Amino acid sequence: MKNHDYKELQAELAKKPTIVITTHRGPDGDAMGSSLALYQVLKAQGYNVSIVVPNSYAKFLHWLPCDKDVVEFEGNEEKAQVLIDAADLIFCLDFNDLRRTDMMCAALEGASAKYVMIDHHQEPSDFADFTYSVPTVCSTAQLIYDFIVHMGWKEFLTVDIAKCIYTGLVTDTGSFRFSSVDKRTHEVAAALIGLGLEQAEVHQKLFDNNKTTRLKLLGYCLSEKMEVLPEYHTAIMSLDRDELERFNFVKGDTEGFVNYALSIDGVIFTAFFVKYDDRVKISFRSLNDFRANLLSKKYFSGGGHINAAGGMFEGSLEDAIALFMKVLPEYKQELLENC
Ligand code: 5GP
Ligand code: MN
Repeated sequence: MKNHDYKELQAELAKKPTIVITTHRGPDGDAMGSSLALYQVLKAQGYNVSIVVPNSYAKFLHWLPCDKDVVEFEGNEEKAQVLIDAADLIFCLDFNDLRRTDMMCAALEGASAKYVMIDHHQEPSDFADFTYSVPTVCSTAQLIYDFIVHMGWKEFLTVDIAKCIYTGLVTDTGSFRFSSVDKRTHEVAAALIGLGLEQAEVHQKLFDNNKTTRLKLLGYCLSEKMEVLPEYHTAIMSLDRDELERFNFVKGDTEGFVNYALSIDGVIFTAFFVKYDDRVKISFRSLNDFRANLLSKKYFSGGGHINAAGGMFEGSLEDAIALFMKVLPEYKQELLENC
């Protein structure tokens, strides 16, 4: 198979291959929504298909249809390995470099399967036998919808699949507000509603599920831990382990916090540092053309999109923030130009 050769992909699928669908570490709404949508479309056609994700994901995504079928590699390594080894075809969704699967990377690299990559991040690597990569598109979910249409699988779309695709659209676009949203995004959303999707129900399930502790953690973070750096039009926030524990943190609780600081007038760049057991995870968000992904790639082993990127740091929270403060002047000109 060559990149983007649908005929060859169709020929592979005609052999009724055993299929694994996977996504990046710390799967988000787009990763899970896209994976579960494709899973259901393939299953409806009788394929032997499984979803194996690197590790656990946020609680607010566990209502998604077929969630119970997802295998988390971390903690179920043997079971996951058997599935990966048996696969003829591995769909890689919402990432474009096998390293993004982290703890699952070695298992994937050792697989004999052919790879299909469907993704919307910049600078795709060329590990896949078939690549459908469009970095200007808002979400992998939008690409999955178009992929389903292109493959002639529209008849297999259901309301449950619509919920999954819609979740990817909503979560990767800040509820349809980012500049990556285009006419097609709304056309896809309209088509999903046309299938009978109750979109208000999806929004409610995704966003109206706060625990008191999460909202209090957000309040604490904004009032005690946010620092605005007017000279750089930047705001930073951080949380250490003790603070997370104080608010009974569970995975997903800090999702979206980084965006609050970006809503401050005059701030166009935000960084949010969270200390986990083994590392500091950093989320970056920006406005206009400030390239958050470049800073993340250069100094925090990360990447992502221009306006939404992530990275990590091996060391203490203080050292991660110190490094950020040290390199920020390098970006001052670009920050000023994007105000
Ligand atoms: P978040 O801050 O929500 O974790 O991530 C924002 C964006 O950056 C997502 O599109 C995600 O794919 C990307 N991203 C997050 N962490 C990493 C990372 O460690 N490496 C790379 N290359 N991209 C990341
Ligand atoms: Mn995505």
